[in-house]
Amino acid sequence: PLVAQRIAAGEVIERPASVIRELLDNALDAGSKSIVASVIEGGLEEIKVIDDGEGIEREDLPLLCESHATSKVRELDDLYHIKSMGFRGEALYSIASVSRITIASSFQGQEPYQITVDNGRKEAVLPGGPRTGTMVTVEGLFKELPARRQFLKRPSTEATMARAVLLEKALAFPDRAFRFISDQTVRVDLVPTTRKQRVLDVLLLNQNIVSSEMLELYDSAGRFDLYAVCSSPAFSRSDRSHIKIYVNNRPVDEYSLVQAVTYGYGELLAGGSFPYCYLFIDVDPTLVDFNIHPTKREVKLRNKAEIHHQVVSMIASQIKRTIP
Ligand code: ADP
Ligand code: MG
Repeated sequence: PLVAQRIAAGEVIERPASVIRELLDNALDAGSKSIVASVIEGGLEEIKVIDDGEGIEREDLPLLCESHATSKVRELDDLYHIKSMGFRGEALYSIASVSRITIASSFQGQEPYQITVDNGRKEAVLPGGPRTGTMVTVEGLFKELPARRQFLKRPSTEATMARAVLLEKALAFPDRAFRFISDQTVRVDLVPTTRKQRVLDVLLLNQNIVSSEMLELYDSAGRFDLYAVCSSPAFSRSDRSHIKIYVNNRPVDEYSLVQAVTYGYGELLAGGSFPYCYLFIDVDPTLVDFNIHPTKREVKLRNKAEIHHQVVSMIASQIKRTIP
């Protein structure tokens, strides 16, 4: 069974940043207000995510890392996939099969308990852990799979990728605090704030100083809401790397919507220059399907043409209005 587990896990968990992504999703799903992610040696040694969410019940601990082939987990699956940012009972199981994971948690402030699963080998539930919320520690990722471990980059590169994943999540959840610590050094410390200020805070962390030149755009069209933090045409860059699209708080790679943003600016931007634009689309969940491969960040939007049109017109009309 271990062999099958590990093959399946490889599809979801590629590197420390993928572990961070899944653990952050779980922390967010648990209603956390404050989340700390830390890595040692870029996560090759250790990855830790601490949250202040609702926690995990003692009797659930042994089930979390089980294959969803069991009926128990299939029930959990059904229960959670509606609200979950994650991938329906797959993440912890996948991580547990390629590392040593310890999940320590206090359910709603009760006595904390913890469990360790070492490369698929489940250990006993023991007392101990944080007084509130959950702490997940992942050690020695791919240590028993040298062929996969050799595909990892240098620790500093892995740390940078993990940090980028955290910032991407932080943009979608401005009302939560996020910290990122790499080898004991605090690299990111974001306090809860408004959507616009969170975008500015993240831009500042990446040395992009555009604060006073960023505009907020809104549009509500019944079946979806648009909100964007965009640069005035005076601020542009020579690549599209700062046009980011979120659908229902998930970052997606949706080129047609990136294009919609640039069409919206039209001739306000010189050829070959692109704006900063963080676009958040909230759609009725029944019109969205994220149920594709977890790492590919694709989304199927049933009303994509309508959204595309609305994005172009929101940007075209509202950006022009700001120009004297
Ligand atoms: P999914 O998130 O798709 O349900 P996971 O494997 O990521 O699958 O997590 C399995 C389950 O473990 C979650 O549904 C949730 O009940 C529980 N869980 C995991 N992490 C946390 C956490 N940080 N706080 C509370 N519950 C958690
Ligand atoms: Mg999850």
